[in-house]
Amino acid sequence: PSIAQLVRAAEPTFSFEFFPPKSPEGETQLWQAIRDLETLRPSFVSITYGAGGSTRDTTVAVTERVATETTLLPMAHLTAVNHSVAELRHIVGRLAAAGVHDILAVRGDPPGNPQGEWVRHPEGVLYAADLVRLIKELGDFTVGVAAFPYKHPRSPDVESDTAEFIAKCRSGADFAITQMFFDADDYLRLRDRVAAAGCDTPIVPGVMPVTSLRTIERSSQLSGAPFPRHLAAEFDRVADDPAAVRALGLAQMSAMCDRLLAEGVPGIHFITLNRSTATREVWQQLSLSAIS
Ligand code: FAD
Repeated sequence: PSIAQLVRAAEPTFSFEFFPPKSPEGETQLWQAIRDLETLRPSFVSITYGAGGSTRDTTVAVTERVATETTLLPMAHLTAVNHSVAELRHIVGRLAAAGVHDILAVRGDPPGNPQGEWVRHPEGVLYAADLVRLIKELGDFTVGVAAFPYKHPRSPDVESDTAEFIAKCRSGADFAITQMFFDADDYLRLRDRVAAAGCDTPIVPGVMPVTSLRTIERSSQLSGAPFPRHLAAEFDRVADDPAAVRALGLAQMSAMCDRLLAEGVPGIHFITLNRSTATREVWQQLSLSAIS
């Protein structure tokens, strides 16, 4: 089945996100994580698209290898940054040739400075919605898009962000995955306002099991996801004890995922940072509570 079918099925999907490696050591680590998490039989895995330069080819190569050498269903992320329509077509063609028919279409950020001016390639596309339409024209692809619980930083307000998100869904997207967040209510508010506007595109929450204060700080900075004050206070109390920080991070993430599943989310997408242990631990706690 395609990811479009899986996210609409009764059973929630479990998926894992990886990024393209930048060094031979990174490559070894990635494949160790992929092989380790393969045993959990996730619904699908996804490979992010590099912000620019060499890792872009790596995304396609890793996705091809997952498709041909593992039992996993891979989804390739693709961005519009610095690509002409001809190049985008070529990449989609390469993916299709390897049997990859699931693509996450995101606009991408300007390389170097994510907040900088977004300049369209002279022969490229401007918004993720245009990329969705392009991919859909090229064949029978499942296309996912990005959703932002805290609105996209470039959107002037939540209302316009919601309206543009819905327009993007209507351009042909089969489902969406959110940016990471630490409070289930933030996801639920996004889901509710999209549903209230009459859009039923499934929105899969994207979560990241956090194991150290540094990852929390860095991820919040990068994604703009605010770290809730009550949680920050809990982490502060154990800040000197890395093992306690890790245990707290995993327990907090498992509790959030339990709540999301109880709220009937279409699935959970884990950002793994190419490591398997933390994701496996959260996943195990979830599957235990699902059985009991
Ligand atoms: P868009 O949907 O195009 O939106 C960008 C901004 O334009 C928003 O403010 C939107 O409201 C506005 N907008 C959209 N359409 C219109 C319109 N017609 N008129 C006026 N305004 C409009 N980045 C990578 O580089 N590689 C990745 O692999 C990657 N994977 C991601 C996966 C997920 C799940 C998420 C949430 C993000 C990912 N990103 C990735 C980051 C993403 O590329 C950036 O957040 C980017 O800035 C926004 O992409 P988008 O697809 O949401 O853009």
